[in-house]
Amino acid sequence: MAGVNDIDILFGAAEIAARVDAIARAIAAAEPRDLLVVVILKGSFVFAADLVRALDRAGVDARVDFITLASYGTATESSGRVTVVHDLAEPVAGQPVLLIDDILESGRTLAFARDLLYGRGAPRVRTCVLLDKSARRLAPIEPDYVGFRIGNDFVVGYGLDLAHRFRGLPYIGVIRAVEK
Ligand code: 5GP
Ligand code: MG
Repeated sequence: MAGVNDIDILFGAAEIAARVDAIARAIAAAEPRDLLVVVILKGSFVFAADLVRALDRAGVDARVDFITLASYGTATESSGRVTVVHDLAEPVAGQPVLLIDDILESGRTLAFARDLLYGRGAPRVRTCVLLDKSARRLAPIEPDYVGFRIGNDFVVGYGLDLAHRFRGLPYIGVIRAVEK
């Protein structure tokens, strides 16, 4: 457990769960039934696992595929260059897609993924992010579905890491101090 670290909780497990259910209901009301959910790894895996189960409760039996993207830079700041580390398993031509990411910051990662899917023939690409840091946007992209809007703090937990740590925390928080 990461309990020896000093982390301020921004969103607790119950609050996240309620928000995920609300997003799933909004998606179910607006998106086609034959939805393909494309999960951008790694950071979105916990959010996506909860969201697809919430979608099922809301009546959407979504298909799921994964793509691993990397944008190189320092530990807490992404660079401009996005690369595909592991690609999707299936073609997306003709599929309405819901693209899931953990955090929308500059927007480069999500814009890259959206453009890639449109380029491969997806007729509709909607976007869903757990967290939106809109003050940091550089690419012209706004998410269709958002969990929470946050400021510039670097956050961890619920799938989000700092140097590969803290992904398993049940809440989203800001690190005050890290014990090795
Ligand atoms: P963008 O391309 O929008 O600038 O980058 C978004 C990506 O940067 C996210 O998918 C995430 O991997 C990473 N990122 C941005 N802010 C944070 C943060 O506060 N915490 C963590 N763990 N990752 C972040
Ligand atoms: Mg990411």
